[in-house]
Amino acid sequence: VELFAHREPDYTFADVVRLLGISESALQAAIAVGDISTEPNDRGQERIPWEEVAILAFEEWTPRIVDAALSTRADEIIPYLNQHRVIKVSLPIYLIRLMDHLAREESAKHHVPRNASDVIERILHDFATAQDAGTLDLEVRGFAQALAYPFFTPPHVGVGRRHCRYCGIAIKTALLEVCGACQARHEPKEHMDEYGLPELDQ
Ligand SMILES: [Zn+2]
Repeated sequence: VELFAHREPDYTFADVVRLLGISESALQAAIAVGDISTEPNDRGQERIPWEEVAILAFEEWTPRIVDAALSTRADEIIPYLNQHRVIKVSLPIYLIRLMDHLAREESAKHHVPRNASDVIERILHDFATAQDAGTLDLEVRGFAQALAYPFFTPPHVGVGRRHCRYCGIAIKTALLEVCGACQARHEPKEHMDEYGLPELDQ
């Protein structure tokens, strides 16, 4: 919370060890393999830029956990497109079992347990990184900038305006974060015989 809510331009090694709860040797190892880089300041001290510490924080804690830890302040601190939202998805049981397996495997390697959301975010993020961000940005406005976070943090714009969490269209109704078309497509009420398909829903 301190790293994101009280952001500094750069940090000492001791700061990073304290903020992330990792060992000095783990930090040295991350620097040695090039996972994070340091920058010298005018006094010849090696400092770690905020962006690099944030990358390491997302490795240790996952973006979902950082968002949850910031609680209601996430709205002001995390860029809009990088904020987390809960949506419901339908998957076959063998893939649900795979997610559980991967989450357990990842949990054993980190001191904060992973869940299905963390696994799916990682897989989709890796997929997104492999795409041409510039082309996707034409379809999904702001995509390239969001993918570049935390190395790029956009200025806060559109605060107070509500957008559909799926398609991004502005919404007039104060309490909703989904437009009517996306609600029908992505959030069908299966228990009421809605399937997100007009042909089937009749
Ligand atoms: Zn929508």
